[in-house]
Amino acid sequence: MTPRGWAVLTLGGLVLALLVASIVLVPWSRPPAPRADQVAALGELPVDQVAHAREFRSALRPGAYGALVVGLLVALLLGLTPLGARLVELAGRPFGGHWTARAVLGGLAVVLLADLLTLPFAAWRQSVLTRYGLSTHGWSGWAVDLLKSYAVSAVIGAIALIGFYTVTRLAPRWWWAFGAAGAAGLVVLLSFVLPVLVEPVFNRFTPMEQGPLRTELMAMAARDGVPVRDVLVADASRRTKAVNAYVSGLGPTRRVVVYDTLLREATPAEVTSVVAHELGHAKDRDVWAGTLTGALGAALAVVALYLLGSWGPLLRLAGVDSVAEPRAFPLLIALVTVAGLVAAPAQALVSRRVEARADAHALALTGDPATFEAMQRRLAGVNLADPDPPRWEYLWSASHPSTVERMAAARAYAREAGR
Ligand SMILES: [Zn+2]
Repeated sequence: MTPRGWAVLTLGGLVLALLVASIVLVPWSRPPAPRADQVAALGELPVDQVAHAREFRSALRPGAYGALVVGLLVALLLGLTPLGARLVELAGRPFGGHWTARAVLGGLAVVLLADLLTLPFAAWRQSVLTRYGLSTHGWSGWAVDLLKSYAVSAVIGAIALIGFYTVTRLAPRWWWAFGAAGAAGLVVLLSFVLPVLVEPVFNRFTPMEQGPLRTELMAMAARDGVPVRDVLVADASRRTKAVNAYVSGLGPTRRVVVYDTLLREATPAEVTSVVAHELGHAKDRDVWAGTLTGALGAALAVVALYLLGSWGPLLRLAGVDSVAEPRAFPLLIALVTVAGLVAAPAQALVSRRVEARADAHALALTGDPATFEAMQRRLAGVNLADPDPPRWEYLWSASHPSTVERMAAARAYAREAGR
């Protein structure tokens, strides 16, 4: 069989594996929160709070969708015309057009150009956050964060680019196989190291101070059978008023993180409710599941790009001879951008299912639906979340159930548990 035949076979195997993983790992069977409870919950939220949140969300929309459209157009313009290939050549020219210069500098130039052209929309977003009082760090803090994120992307991007184009040179017929394995490996590696190498670039993390709350949280984790070394507090208040918590990392790098804003805004019982949700993610190994599906998706993307990239008309549009050369990188970015947009609703759906399961875990672990509901109200109030967002936006991009869905889930739980 030819390398191409093997690639088709591998693609089929990866699609199957991804399907099986999403059937087995995603909690599909959980019943949705009753709509009647959602409507009742919405009716009980202060009218002016809901109106204010909706006004804020509308103010964000033009910037968000503007960035989406411009990002897509730039990717298509660079990838499906010879302009992108020329940009890569230009970036490599000071180094005599050496392939490593084209691969790394050319690749980064393409990404940086797209970032710069969507920068006005990022600034728009920051101005809206400031106007509504959610952002606390001012324009200089915003600019520093932006430069840091460019630097982090450049380092990770350079490693990926040099690795990828070394493989395409060393194994011109089989690069897709090594590339797929490498991409999957990179996803797993990043899951491990992001919490210890990248997150500290943006925030300081300190162990939660000793006291009744910490004791309560550690006891709850022990009761839940989830070994937690520590609960870390992130200094999110230097950037935002928004409250949040999350779990990240794998094995030795796993941590539960709460924003300092959460500790400031919420009652200890509400913080406990939030951490119970995060323990749900840890207990159900959601980070592992996300990493596994991410790795399969990355491998699948490489094989699909190889197969698509042997399609003559596409190569002619991009003005390249082979998809494996650095000059074809903009074409890869264009294809990945389109695929990302198409996959977004499916990713959001899976995420909402996983989040609903963590909510159910929090309710069962704390046995306190009233506090859970109060916490959801507070989250929506402080973060200016639309408690019941427009349907299309929800289906397109919501990573979590809506506030009214989460409140309704608490009410359904309370009924069943007789509380
Ligand atoms: Zn969650």
